[in-house]
Amino acid sequence: MSFRDYAPAPESTAILNLRPSYALYIGGEWTDGRGGSMTTISPATEKSIAEISLADASDIDRAVAAARKSYDTVWSRMSGAERGKYLFRIARLIQERAREFAVAETLDNGKPIRETRDIDIPLVAAWFFHYAGWADKLDYAGLGPNPSALGVAGQIIPWNFPLLMLAWKVAPALAAGNTVVLKPAETTPLTALMFADICEQAGLPAGVVNIVPGLGGVAGQALVEHAGVNKIAFTGSTGVGRQIARTLAGSETRVTLELGGKGANIVFDDAAIDEAVEGIITGIFFNQGHVCCAGSRLLVQENIQDEVVEKLTRRLSTLRLGDPLDKNTDIGAVNSKEQLARITAITATGEAEGANRWTLDCELPSKGFWFRPTIFTNVTTSNTVARDEIFGPVLSVLSFRTPDEAIVKANNTPYGLSAGIWTQNASRMLRVADSLRAGVVWANTFNQFDPTSPFGGYKESGYGREGGRHGLAAYLANGGAR
Ligand code: NAD
Repeated sequence: MSFRDYAPAPESTAILNLRPSYALYIGGEWTDGRGGSMTTISPATEKSIAEISLADASDIDRAVAAARKSYDTVWSRMSGAERGKYLFRIARLIQERAREFAVAETLDNGKPIRETRDIDIPLVAAWFFHYAGWADKLDYAGLGPNPSALGVAGQIIPWNFPLLMLAWKVAPALAAGNTVVLKPAETTPLTALMFADICEQAGLPAGVVNIVPGLGGVAGQALVEHAGVNKIAFTGSTGVGRQIARTLAGSETRVTLELGGKGANIVFDDAAIDEAVEGIITGIFFNQGHVCCAGSRLLVQENIQDEVVEKLTRRLSTLRLGDPLDKNTDIGAVNSKEQLARITAITATGEAEGANRWTLDCELPSKGFWFRPTIFTNVTTSNTVARDEIFGPVLSVLSFRTPDEAIVKANNTPYGLSAGIWTQNASRMLRVADSLRAGVVWANTFNQFDPTSPFGGYKESGYGREGGRHGLAAYLANGGAR
């Protein structure tokens, strides 16, 4: 797929019309939360963007009641074709306001505008267009007899791709006929709240989509524990995912969990090395490495290790770190002070455990949260940087001699979300791909996303799939996937 197909509409402008404060969006109305408020800031400047009202458990009650009412009285009675029309309208409105959304996302998250403008927001539109097309085809899409919606879906999303994670969850839920209560992450609520405006503009019936910013341990937990919620879709850390699985064990609530990862990017000595180097960089430095499917472990065949590392550091030295609103910027800000502290601590541990550290030689802006792209070599498989998810711009380099050794090392992780293979040998590509316990395996590329393609993990990376027909089935009572 070419993201350009979903490029911002020509009429879209980058002029932001932000409000100084945002309430919760429940039942088609803006209403103050009872959980206090917090200021959302730009991680690149630490400047305030807007004041955000926070939901407590009673607000979650109201949101679930609103979603239930709209499900019972409007949404479940509507034909698939009508639901599809709303989704098409939403997709089109996203395109019309794409530049504005790109600027807002970059401000709130810290990622480069080049990424939000060319990747995040076009993909958001692509996701809504894709699922709009499914809404009137459920009966004959091979999803089982009489596929029916689950009811109210509770959705909890992280801060790394805020609007895109919303689209991954809201679009299939609505297409399948569910209504939604969505809780954005604490540090990135802005584009989800702007999305509420899009729902209004599209004329979506009140209560079909409810947006409730709040703290994970308060609003998130209340949503998970709410008896009126039929499905929880969560993307975030493995720790919280485990807790959610425990809370819902034995209940009727359906669950999908998209958790962490420690993806291996495997480079064989017959690979097109220069292309592989670009793929390694995209694999780990895209979105400052705040990517669950990042290729954070480079497994490189021993005889080309020095050449690859040398080319990598040379190429990395041409990247620009700085103001994410500058369209020439490659590396933006780390999303929060807490995440910066986590990355700093884990890399210090890796160094103390004996790995060699290479860091991009560049100036850091005086304000904001920044981390220089970092590569660890001489990394043992037991080193913390080779084992733990860092969720930052940090690559650990390990080597292998044979394909079998590469497979063993790649699978030597509690996670199983993503992997990449670089080789010109097609039979080797297929054999290695087949042996990897990873939900997605990219061949001579990395970090490519498409709404037709299911995405999800094995092992501690979670369960369930998002995207394509599988992603739809996860929102249907008899759609087969749990
Ligand atoms: P997190 O899991 O704490 O937060 C993700 C979402 O879950 C947020 O909306 C948060 O408010 C909510 N949440 C937190 N506690 C909750 C609870 N008890 N019940 C219900 N919802 C709750 O993740 P984080 O603290 O923002 O990041 C920590 C680590 O998680 C990162 O370092 C990274 O390793 C991982 N992470 C992974 C992804 C991913 O896409 N898989 C995304 C973000 C973070």
